Amino acid sequence: MAGKLVIGNWKMNTRADSAQTLLQALLADETSNRDWVGVAAPAVYLAGLAERLRGQPLRLCAQDVSAFDQDGAFTGETSAAMLADIGCGYTLVGHSERRQYFGESNAALLRKMRNAIAAGLVPVLCVGETLEEREAGRQLEVIRDQLALLSEIDHGEYVVAYEPVWAIGTGKVATLAQIAEIHGAIKKWCLQNVKASDNIRVLYGGSVKAENAEAILATENVDGALVGGASLDAGSFRAICQAAGKLI
Ligand code: PEP
Repeated sequence: MAGKLVIGNWKMNTRADSAQTLLQALLADETSNRDWVGVAAPAVYLAGLAERLRGQPLRLCAQDVSAFDQDGAFTGETSAAMLADIGCGYTLVGHSERRQYFGESNAALLRKMRNAIAAGLVPVLCVGETLEEREAGRQLEVIRDQLALLSEIDHGEYVVAYEPVWAIGTGKVATLAQIAEIHGAIKKWCLQNVKASDNIRVLYGGSVKAENAEAILATENVDGALVGGASLDAGSFRAICQAAGKLI
């Protein structure tokens, strides 16, 4: 598959002004203003950023999407149709922070994936084991359980992000051998079990920074990166995009 996909996950950070300033710094540079680069901004700022992104290559990503597919009495929810309406191209689904703090079940995540695809968004399903699960040698079993819902989807494009929970926001990075092993296993599982797509991109996430991006992105079966902390600094994020750009 040609090219890498790099998505910055701003999480619950920025304000209206700082979000626009960060976006502007990415738009002003051709290493980051690319159609294979996205920013997952807080829901409340997506519409404002979408205005600024009109006609630009850089893609907008939501951090979550509702499991409900119809308009109605679902207070606080943001539907896939709403995200598509304002110009989002991607949405994260099942980030480990949402699994941990909001108890998202695989059944709900399947509905989110389906809703996103039906609305024309590309969902990015996040999977990954905790430290406890890795220490018990259960990482592959856990990841296969998280991937299982993909076998229920029979059409549409989606992306998988492997994010070991112990590497998110901790500064600990999985070794290149660990990354290669899990990415290879995810691709193999997908080849054997999914109907929707034969070319599923698998991103790595977990303390990706300017200094380690090139080595991670050059690792076998790594099709891009999901970047948390380092995406809040335009210079760091641009350096990661630059590393990805070299590999295209
Ligand atoms: C993330 O939240 O998706 C992530 C990978 O965070 P960080 O890069 O900060 O580890």
